[in-house]
Amino acid sequence: MITFDSVTKRYPDGFVAVDDLSIEAETGRITVLVGPSGCGKTTTLRMINRMIDATEGQILLDGADVKKIDPPTLRRGIGYVIQQAGLFPHRKIVDNVATVPYLLGWDKKKARDRAMELLERVGLDPKMAQRYPFQLSGGQQQRVGVARALAADPPVLLMDEPFSAVDPIVRTSLQEELLRLQSELNKTIVFVTHDIDEAIKLGDKVAVLRVGGKLAQFAAPKTLLSEPADDFVREFLGRDRGIRRLSFISTEHLRLRTDLVVSSSAASGSAAASDGLLMVVSEDGRPVGWQGSDEPFGTYVHGKDSLRAALDAALLSPSGQAVAVDPEGKVVGIATREALDAALAEAADG
Ligand code: ADP
Ligand code: MG
Repeated sequence: MITFDSVTKRYPDGFVAVDDLSIEAETGRITVLVGPSGCGKTTTLRMINRMIDATEGQILLDGADVKKIDPPTLRRGIGYVIQQAGLFPHRKIVDNVATVPYLLGWDKKKARDRAMELLERVGLDPKMAQRYPFQLSGGQQQRVGVARALAADPPVLLMDEPFSAVDPIVRTSLQEELLRLQSELNKTIVFVTHDIDEAIKLGDKVAVLRVGGKLAQFAAPKTLLSEPADDFVREFLGRDRGIRRLSFISTEHLRLRTDLVVSSSAASGSAAASDGLLMVVSEDGRPVGWQGSDEPFGTYVHGKDSLRAALDAALLSPSGQAVAVDPEGKVVGIATREALDAALAEAADG
């Protein structure tokens, strides 16, 4: 666990970049620092590995004051990933990844084996190992940056806007890769971004900072979205707040209509309900299509997927109905537009 206890950073010119910050980054979790440019995110991050020293207050790493640990020792246990990867341009990828093992005096073979293993872990083709950084795309370079930070298997990983310089599609895949890696590695990660969507997607907890280095709110993403502390946080979250929040709302209470589901054997004779399309299901209960219509349909897993997924499913259907299925893909009912509207209204109140 990393504890910030009333930490202030005043630069020599008197500028206060971080103001009386108290937060805890839990072990094995991703803590995100988010806020507009200049709000002190990088300063906060660098105080952890002492690239910058705090002016006041204490930073504790598992209870030990980082100021009492000499920087090289401290940094051995802390991986650091920055924007544009910061790779050494004249070193091959494999040697970039093995940088820290070499510094730690590992023999060359062991260091390189470790580097190869990590390249694979972050989803890179081993053939890339012999290339130089300029021969890789931005997204690939970022993966190398992550591999390099993991090389000595540090328990803590600091990431400063690591995905900010790549295009949105690559960025999404890097975010997913990080979440997958984290589910295997359980590092204590402090992740800096100016992008609230990224913060909400990656963070177990999110610290929203405002300019002047003041903490505006420190909470789980769900709480940020449902209970923003003030107008600054509300505005920073933006107008899509309502939609994002739906990702955290369960579909288990969504009212389903089973009378709109008909089996394929019985389908021919039954008349369409006046207030919705009928979903025809196969003998084993799987959705076939809307009766008398070629229009598409969308499904979601009832009780497991979020309300947002149910709405996405409804958008695929011409009638605005979502097909609720169980984890095996069998239809359990239809969420009508009315039922979805009711759930949305309830979400807006809550
Ligand atoms: P962020 O990463 O959130 O964009 P930084 O932590 O880099 O913000 O910087 C926070 C503030 O501190 C900015 O206003 C920046 O100009 C200022 N700052 C950063 N480094 C120094 C320095 N060495 N001396 C004076 N001010 C600095
Ligand atoms: Mg920064």
